[in-house]
Amino acid sequence: MEEVRVFPLTCAVQNYAWGKIGLDSEVAKLVVGGDPVAVIERDKPYAELWMGAHPKGDAQIKDNRIAQTTLGQWITHYPACLGSKVKDAFQGQLPFLFKVLSVNTALSIQAHPNKELAATLHAQFPEHYPDNNHKPEMAIALTRFQGLCGFRPVDEILGFLQAVPEFHALVGRDAAEELRSSVGDEVRTGRALKKCFTKMMSCEKKVFVDELNELVKRVTQEGAAGKDTSSSNGDLLLRLHSQYPGDIGCFSIYFLNYVVLEPGQAMFLGANEPHAYIYGDCIECMACSDNTVRAGLTRKYIDVNTLCEMLNYKPASASSKIFPCVPDPADPCVTLYDPPVPDFTVMKIQVPASVKDYTVASVDSASILLVIEGDAMATSAAAFSDVTLTRGSVLFVSANESVSLQVTSQSGMTLFRACSLL
Ligand SMILES: [Zn+2]
Repeated sequence: MEEVRVFPLTCAVQNYAWGKIGLDSEVAKLVVGGDPVAVIERDKPYAELWMGAHPKGDAQIKDNRIAQTTLGQWITHYPACLGSKVKDAFQGQLPFLFKVLSVNTALSIQAHPNKELAATLHAQFPEHYPDNNHKPEMAIALTRFQGLCGFRPVDEILGFLQAVPEFHALVGRDAAEELRSSVGDEVRTGRALKKCFTKMMSCEKKVFVDELNELVKRVTQEGAAGKDTSSSNGDLLLRLHSQYPGDIGCFSIYFLNYVVLEPGQAMFLGANEPHAYIYGDCIECMACSDNTVRAGLTRKYIDVNTLCEMLNYKPASASSKIFPCVPDPADPCVTLYDPPVPDFTVMKIQVPASVKDYTVASVDSASILLVIEGDAMATSAAAFSDVTLTRGSVLFVSANESVSLQVTSQSGMTLFRACSLL
């Protein structure tokens, strides 16, 4: 059986409450595409598709001729499939978790620790920080994707402090003045920004709930009177408040960039970068970890001290948060999303309609292949038999194996592939 190193997977769905509902969800559409008899419930959220070997959602091997039933079990048996470099660097584990997300309501504002901080937090508070790994993440938009990411340029924050008195009240006059007078001095600005954000996050609940209600009332009235509320970021405020009433995270829109990704654009979330997903469908890839420090738009635990200490207080524009992808010099069909971490790289493979025979090249790492669009017959010397690929099919490909696609759809194919290019 060891010669079988390429096989299809049935992947785990997570029905978190924030997911898009029924067949509105890209996750549900992919599930049905990959398995026509799958049942999608009309009123149920389909939030995430997990393509990997994480214990909370280990993929099932879709071939009963293979003795192991899950990808995790199979990798434990045949760690050489990871490729020798990856196997050694990541202790015999698949280093990444590949996902599809369909976001209907905002996910919590969060940041992820670097390796050093993760180890400290895990040792001190294992109940909140379940492992000692970092968790860099990359989101690639499938549909127009909205999120919050990183601190805004200081002039924008100062503009909101002036235009939104309820926000100014939480930050306080001293901290706000310190930020204003720091302009032009990067070190002082970082310090002042930290002070402003920490002041707001440390406010007593009663204080910020009163200010938030006041603000929501004012913006609602201004909107009803036909006034432009953009100086208070009114539309986004009311949207988040309707999802998380009374949540301190509603004020974070004055500190953090509102980022909109068009399909194919990406956002990379390195250590200590504050971020939140608001709406849309995306491909996501991350290092294997559950370490998340939350800052609002959540009913979960918020660790204000850790959060305020760890964040990256470097103001930058929203456009600078879009991660540059590059064409693969070796293959004109491939676009590389290669973040500055060893754990994962994502490739977008676009086979044009004119190409009917395409080879998914071997890499020296295990990889996971997801079909987003198109049909093909996949052939590999390392597979039991040919595999029919349709929208939603997921294939595990061991290191150093290639897969030949005989494209049967008229309009070409789009695939995403996750691997680790050490
Ligand atoms: Zn995150």
